[in-house]
Amino acid sequence: MNETQIDYRVALAGNPNVGKSTIFNALTGLHQHTGNWTGKTVSLATGFFSADNRRIELTDLPGTYSMTAFSEEENVTRLFLESAQADCAVIVIDSNVIERNLSYVLEVLSLQSKAVLCLNMSDEAEKKGMHINAEKLSAMLGIPVIKTCAVKKTGVKELKKMILSVCDGTRVCMTEQKHEIASNHGAAAYLLSQRSKAICEACVTCSSPKKNAGRLDKILTSKLTGIPLMLLLFLLLFWLTAVGANYPSEWLGMLFGKVKEWLSLLFEWMNAPAFLTGLLIDGVYTTLSWVVSVMLPPMAIFFPLFALLEDSGYLPRIAFNLDAVFARCGAHGKQSLTMAMGLGCNACGVTGCRIIESPQERTIAILTNNMMPCNGRFPILIAMILMFFAHASFGLAASVQAALLMVLLLMLSVLLTLGMSKLLSLTIVRGAPSGFALELPPYRKPQVLKTIGRSLLDRALFVLGRAVIVAAPAGAVIWLCANIDIGGQSVLKICTDFFDPFGRFIGLDGVVVMAFLLGFPANETVIPIMLMAYLSSGVMTDYSGYGELLSLLTSNGWTWVTAVCMCVMTVLHFPCSTTCLTIKKETGSIKWTLLAAAIPTALGIMLCALIAAVSRFLA
Ligand code: GDP
Repeated sequence: MNETQIDYRVALAGNPNVGKSTIFNALTGLHQHTGNWTGKTVSLATGFFSADNRRIELTDLPGTYSMTAFSEEENVTRLFLESAQADCAVIVIDSNVIERNLSYVLEVLSLQSKAVLCLNMSDEAEKKGMHINAEKLSAMLGIPVIKTCAVKKTGVKELKKMILSVCDGTRVCMTEQKHEIASNHGAAAYLLSQRSKAICEACVTCSSPKKNAGRLDKILTSKLTGIPLMLLLFLLLFWLTAVGANYPSEWLGMLFGKVKEWLSLLFEWMNAPAFLTGLLIDGVYTTLSWVVSVMLPPMAIFFPLFALLEDSGYLPRIAFNLDAVFARCGAHGKQSLTMAMGLGCNACGVTGCRIIESPQERTIAILTNNMMPCNGRFPILIAMILMFFAHASFGLAASVQAALLMVLLLMLSVLLTLGMSKLLSLTIVRGAPSGFALELPPYRKPQVLKTIGRSLLDRALFVLGRAVIVAAPAGAVIWLCANIDIGGQSVLKICTDFFDPFGRFIGLDGVVVMAFLLGFPANETVIPIMLMAYLSSGVMTDYSGYGELLSLLTSNGWTWVTAVCMCVMTVLHFPCSTTCLTIKKETGSIKWTLLAAAIPTALGIMLCALIAAVSRFLA
């Protein structure tokens, strides 16, 4: 077989959340993860596999619910299939919800007559007592049908073989003329669903009535219990984070302290000049150890937990619960999903806004996404709360208070987003609302180890890596600034003094303002830069837990008011450079990009100035 030659091209299509990425990986052996929601799969992933010595190229099309070309993804999928680039399409569906998925199958078949239907999640459907007659289904659709369970790789071999047979023509598809109703979409949407229903009635039998998901959804999405349960769930998440973060943070501090002693001995033994020891150990190393000890523990706990929630299928329930509230604010229920993505990364959240079809609702979602604190800002909030506000009092443990405060902060972010959405919808982003067409995917037992591993690598270590990469050279630069004098004053002091009056006006100080400005490339670096500035101008101490950090801050004049303003400013300031670029790309407009930066910053400055003024008045 010639390594570079491609014998056939195959497209992989399907609704979101049907296990398409897992099938892609099982077929090609590539480990790519495409997120559960459209928007995460932006570019087309391709991989290769061979069957019977033929080399087949597999293109993973974005997961979409239909082919109406409302969104970018649907457009891409439609254009790809229309352009007849593929010799065969593999349509992956979730067997559990076959009727709903079948309209999509019919739509694809109207564009691509050579196809294989992959009935994925067949394990779950069988467990539920669903029996799908594959032969009959195949006869009615005119294409071969293969049952698979992608996670266990069951049926993947058969799928490969069948793809090859369709490509080389040994298995003929009988789709011509059959699905013409699908091609005239607008008028035929209801015809499609009628046809799907008829096919289902003929091919699917259930031996036991559905239970589980229905009962769970009654509780999790009910008007009465949905939102309180959601808050409780987040409370639990934050509580686990707060309880878990302290000890590892101290252990890391101790470990870094030991290594620092060894490094100092090594430098002494090498007779290194004092300048170099200062720069590398006191500047770069000490800063890095602070960054890792402060940021890693909460992230390593929160992100995997959040990922488990994401994988279980719970997040769309949040969107469902909040839909009415969003609608009242002129926004779309799906915005709560893009907000949840924003909790991970605002650039992802902004791209995710493509799932919202109506342009004005999408613009609102993009402009307000940054009000959800991302990966890079979460650790700041957690650290502030753990240090300044979580004390065992009112009969509550410190960790419970920390969790309550985090939930409160998150609720504030949501309220601010809603308020701002309403304001925008009444002023600059007016337009008619669109209907809510979010589907609730079934609950799924998450693959715990895989999910935890992936979120640690993809999120926690990624964020930390970014912080470290920027913090290391910045540590050196700030150390230099702190040690180079101009006219008897260090360069660092001159800079922070310049920002100080403004900083004080908004309840912070010059160092924090400088840290936010220099943190524009990545929010992860705000704390590192701030620490460096404080450490280099004060007494150098080693990190030994949140208590140490607290005394560093209080010795620099911090009070609980500073911490409140810090939290406010963390949630409300311009998005990082990556997010700004993404907003520019998604909206194609400098005006919206500038607004997306100006709105939260102005709001943050006003709120902080107000808090500072009130606290001065009361003092
Ligand atoms: P995509 O959004 O369509 O790409 O879906 P993914 O491949 O990310 O899969 C969504 C979830 O379904 C993941 O948690 C998978 O592990 C799980 N999954 C995929 N295929 C199967 C299957 O055949 N059976 C079961 N039980 N779970 C599956």
